[in-house]
Amino acid sequence: MQIIDGKKISAEVKDEVKARMERLKSQGKEGSLAVIQVGDDPASSIYVRNKARACEYCGIGNITSKLDASSTEEELLALIDAYNKDPDIIGILVQLPLPPQMDEEHVIDAIALDKDVDGFSKKSVGALCIGSSGLRSCTPAGVMELLKRYHIQIDGKNCVVVGRSNIVGKPMAMMLLNENGTVTVAHSHTENLKEICRQADILVASVGKAHFITADYVKEGAVVIDVGINRTEDGHLQGDVDFDDVKEHASYITPVPGGVGPMTIAMLMNNCAQSLENRK
Ligand code: NDP
Repeated sequence: MQIIDGKKISAEVKDEVKARMERLKSQGKEGSLAVIQVGDDPASSIYVRNKARACEYCGIGNITSKLDASSTEEELLALIDAYNKDPDIIGILVQLPLPPQMDEEHVIDAIALDKDVDGFSKKSVGALCIGSSGLRSCTPAGVMELLKRYHIQIDGKNCVVVGRSNIVGKPMAMMLLNENGTVTVAHSHTENLKEICRQADILVASVGKAHFITADYVKEGAVVIDVGINRTEDGHLQGDVDFDDVKEHASYITPVPGGVGPMTIAMLMNNCAQSLENRK
C-alpha cells in the first residue's frame, strides 16, 4: 500500500504555479484573484485567509471584498460585474455559502466564464461535460492531479464515486469519464452500495460522513480516494474512509488530513495561472 501524499503534491503544484507566474510577469502579464465574502462566517474567514496566503506565495495578487451579511443580491452582482470588467482581475471567487436572501446559482452564473476559477458556473460545468477546455472545479481537479502524478491508470478502469454533489461528486465523475474510466455514481438512494463499491478499481468517497467507507466496501488492491472532511467534536479532521481499516486492502490511499484537502487551493492557484495564460 502506498499513501498518496497530497501535501507534497500540492506544494509541487504551487511551486509550478509560482514559476509560471514569474514567467508571465517577465512578459508583462500579472493579475489578481478577487475573493468575495458575504458575512463573517468564521470557517469562511479561515478559507479566505488561506486563499490569500496561497496567492501571496504563488505571486498572484489578491483582493478580498467583504460584504455585510445583510447585503442584497444586487449589491453582490454589481461587485461581480465590476470584477468581470476589470482587466487586472484574472479570477473571481464567491465564498459559499451565501446568506438566504441570495440565490447561489444566479450569483455564480454572473461570473465571467474566463474568470470562473472555482469552475462552478453552468457554463464551466457544461464545458466539462462536453469535454471542452475550461477552468475545472478545484477539488475533483485536485483528485485527478493526484491520480496523474502517481501514474494511476484511469483508462478502462471501474471508477465508483460515492456522492453526487455539484461541487464534488458530479464533476468528479465527469473528469474520470473524460479520462475513459467506466464510472458509476452512487448516492443515498443507491441499492447494494457495498457490492457496487467492491467493484471499484478506483473508489472516490465524497459522502460527508466520517469513516463511512470500511474495508468491506473495498476491493483488494483498489485505489481509495477520500474527499471527506468531517470535524469531530474535539476539532480533529476525519475522512469519509476508515483509513486504518481500509489501508491494508488498498494499493493507494489518501489520508485525511494531508490527502485531497491541500489540493483544492493548489488547483485554485493553477486555475488563476491558467486564466492569465489564456489571455490573448
Ligand atoms: P454533500 O453533502 O453535498 O453531498 C454528499 C453526497 O453523499 C450526496 O450526494 C449524498 O447523496 C451522498 N450520501 C449521503 N449519505 C449517503 C449514504 N448513506 N450512502 C450513499 N451516499 C450518500 O457533500 P459534498 O459533496 O459537498 O462534500 C462531500 C465531502 O467532501 C464532505 O465531507 C466535505 O466536507 C468534503 N469536501 C472536501 C473538499 C476538499 O477540499 N477536500 C471540498 C468540498 C467538500 P444524495 O445526493 O442522495 O443526498
